[in-house]
Amino acid sequence: MMKPSIGRIVHYVDPDGEHFAAIITGVWTDHCVNLVVFELCDGCPSAVRTSVMFDGGAAAPFVARTWHWPERE
Ligand SMILES: [Zn+2]
Repeated sequence: MMKPSIGRIVHYVDPDGEHFAAIITGVWTDHCVNLVVFELCDGCPSAVRTSVMFDGGAAAPFVARTWHWPERE
């Protein structure tokens, strides 16, 4: 598995199951990171999310409030 590192762009899954772009700003473990999430709503600032756990999407749908590498089309 690719290891997360600061500055990488990933996806963050919000509570509604939507995927948003996010940048890794801190790495705790290979699975647990801090993110700045760029959420898609009017006037939404980017949002800090700390200690977000990895979910590779093995069991669809993705678990809310997790991160994963961007899907390849
Ligand atoms: Zn995604």
